[in-house]
Amino acid sequence: MKLGFNEATALHCANSSLMADLTECEKNGFDYIELRGDCIHDYLKEHSLEELKQWFDSHHLKPWAFNTLEYFNLRDRAGERDIDAQVDFIIKVCDAIGMKMLITVPTFGIKNKHVAEIREEAVQRLRYLADRVAPHNIRISLEFCGQPACSINQFRTAYDVVKAVDRDNVGITVDTFHFHEMCSKLSDLKKAKGKKLFAFHLNDCEDLPLGSCGDDKRLWPGLGVIDHAGIAAVLRKIGFDGVCTIEEFRPEYYTMPHAENIKMAYQVTRAYVDKYFK
Ligand code: ZN
Repeated sequence: MKLGFNEATALHCANSSLMADLTECEKNGFDYIELRGDCIHDYLKEHSLEELKQWFDSHHLKPWAFNTLEYFNLRDRAGERDIDAQVDFIIKVCDAIGMKMLITVPTFGIKNKHVAEIREEAVQRLRYLADRVAPHNIRISLEFCGQPACSINQFRTAYDVVKAVDRDNVGITVDTFHFHEMCSKLSDLKKAKGKKLFAFHLNDCEDLPLGSCGDDKRLWPGLGVIDHAGIAAVLRKIGFDGVCTIEEFRPEYYTMPHAENIKMAYQVTRAYVDKYFK
């Protein structure tokens, strides 16, 4: 199991930047980083993609995924054009630095659409996007979000979509916070293929009523109420052996010095992997 860092974790720490994240992730021993679109745009104000490629070529840390192509499904024509433009940019970044995956999240706030309709439309959209990125050897990982307003908010629905898409370059992201928040079931996760789990986001959650939490209620793994032993046991059983990526959005973690945040992120991710995957 490799260790990954998602840039959301230290996003609002003082002096945070893509370059600072790279430096601290390398120093602490992370294997991979998930790059955020906003962080890349900030970086490109003063640097180039060629510089970024050179940095990765000369360090252990490698780019794992672009995070995030937001709201890929159930869009109007203008929204679909916006997605196309974002995908153009993501392809350019991926080609330049050798990144091979984009993570996409579903649209929120859709009313009066049955799950079957949502599923069918998502399948069509993901097939379209999969065709667009396939010539660049880019994979797409669908991340369901565990909030009531998200159009795809449980593992089972997301995995049904991924199965129906039936493309080698389309898989699923499991984020432990999202899995917990909308009561996704271990019995559904058990039926999944480990190789279809393209990304794994690690975190914990406060003991608040299910479905009520925003991302700000995420905690370092082990400090909350997520059933990590249960989820990890199933991940081992289905043969997941990818990248375990820490992803937090907690305001009080943003008050930590940037270097301390990433040091802590490494320690808790290392401890989780050593506890459940050794
Ligand atoms: Zn996530």
